Amino acid sequence: MAATTIHPDKDALLQRVPTGLYIAGEWRAATGGRTLGVEDPATGETLAEIADATPEDAVAALDAACAVQEQWAQHPPRERGEILRRAFEELIDRSEELSLLMTLEMGKPLSEARGEIAYAAEYFRWFSEEAVRIDGRYATAPDGRSRLLVMKQPVGPCLLITPWNFPMAMGTRKIGPAIAAGCTMVMKPAKQTPLSTFALADILERAGLPAGVLNVIASSSASSIITPLITDARMRKVSFTGSTEIGRLLVKQGAEQLLRSSMELGGNAPFVVFEDADLDKAVEGAMLAKMRNGGEACTAANRFFVHDSVADEFTKRLAERMGDLKVGHGAADGTQVGPLIDGTERAKVAALVDDARERGAEVLTGGAPVDGPGYFYAPTVLRSVPLGARVLEEEIFGPVAPVQTFTDEDDVVARANATEYGLVAYVFTRDLDRALRVGAHLETGMLGINQGIVSNPAAPFGGVKHSGFGREGGREGIDEYLATKYFAIANG
Ligand code: NAP
Repeated sequence: MAATTIHPDKDALLQRVPTGLYIAGEWRAATGGRTLGVEDPATGETLAEIADATPEDAVAALDAACAVQEQWAQHPPRERGEILRRAFEELIDRSEELSLLMTLEMGKPLSEARGEIAYAAEYFRWFSEEAVRIDGRYATAPDGRSRLLVMKQPVGPCLLITPWNFPMAMGTRKIGPAIAAGCTMVMKPAKQTPLSTFALADILERAGLPAGVLNVIASSSASSIITPLITDARMRKVSFTGSTEIGRLLVKQGAEQLLRSSMELGGNAPFVVFEDADLDKAVEGAMLAKMRNGGEACTAANRFFVHDSVADEFTKRLAERMGDLKVGHGAADGTQVGPLIDGTERAKVAALVDDARERGAEVLTGGAPVDGPGYFYAPTVLRSVPLGARVLEEEIFGPVAPVQTFTDEDDVVARANATEYGLVAYVFTRDLDRALRVGAHLETGMLGINQGIVSNPAAPFGGVKHSGFGREGGREGIDEYLATKYFAIANG
């Protein structure tokens, strides 16, 4: 493991980051003054104590959002866009410091944190441009007796809930379109990584976002603050990114209010390498699809299907690349893989690998936690993983690549689809006809063809089946925050 160098800017940075609840444009303590510790997963050290919101604080945040909803909806679209544009610029200007903050609380290597800041900022730039393109239509009714006017309005106060794995990008992907559309928000980041969201709220305030439009609360008990919000008749939408289990629960809770919902949930991505694939590209793509964020990504390749004729070569090269990765504190020089987010997640990954090994899988590299402080797990490649192994069925969320082989196209499509999830798939082949044919039959919301990354602010991100519904980014992203209204106008 790489030696840990404490970053010189760390302490000064942590002193500057807000740690309160952000409600109605003010940073406040939680009711009763409770706090909650935020930990560095690479060392176990407490980085900050943040306000631990109560249900009363949650309702105060919604009160603040409701109080300014009407006014915010009237705010000129150009000005809403300009706020996002200024925030985009500040994110880029302060990339180094924000990357370090994210690395400290989440664990990812600094190089990846920098990539995430750029990706996150792009959502603000994209939606700054979308803010002025919200339109409707005008038509004459088919019977000629009236005119039809269709317009789009902000849906109203939104509840935004984000996970810990991409603390900044999952935030901007929701906040960006909500601001552009004219919605107010209560946002709840994951308790492990709230500091990035607090920094984002601070940036938006300085970019000119009026008080009350965005309210941010974190809590040691997510359900206690989310339940009163999601069941409140004033809330008009929930946008959630996280596990399928919690997504399902939130849809049930919101059903009483028939709450509009967007659900970006778990994945179990197949990564298919055909016999004619460019193996250099396939290995490169596999490293990206598997190891982005140390495997803690909903888009992570979970199941590798490699054609029998190239499986030995592909697996050998993948194991070499995985075995060479430098594991360490994300802020240390040269680190390529950071820790997992916490001990529970590491234990889950270890249990999946142990189960596969007990069922006869061969471990080509890794296969064990890394000794020392922090929640590290060695990058792992498994071969000959038998059907029924849990690692093929559950979302791994860690640096583990199980490889299986195939010989027949229809068979591999059926095996790739044999999962409750349908977020993303990857296909490597030089035959474009085959890629398109296979892609049409894969049950997925997104497909990477000869590339191991699909995320792009200009594209609609989202899944099918138990990976959820709704899309973030692209031209579709803003629609999730708009309601359609139609006027029937009598001919005069
Ligand atoms: P999680 O446990 O579902 O948590 C996600 C968010 O929900 C966190 O803010 C969490 O708060 C909150 N939460 C937890 N229990 C809740 C409850 N009972 N009521 C209301 N909110 C609750 O997921 P995670 O472990 O953070 O993230 C990993 C999962 O997210 C994976 O399944 C991954 O695939 C998925 N993900 C999906 C996408 C996508 O776009 N499809 C992107 C990234 C991640 P606390 O953490 O504070 O408890």
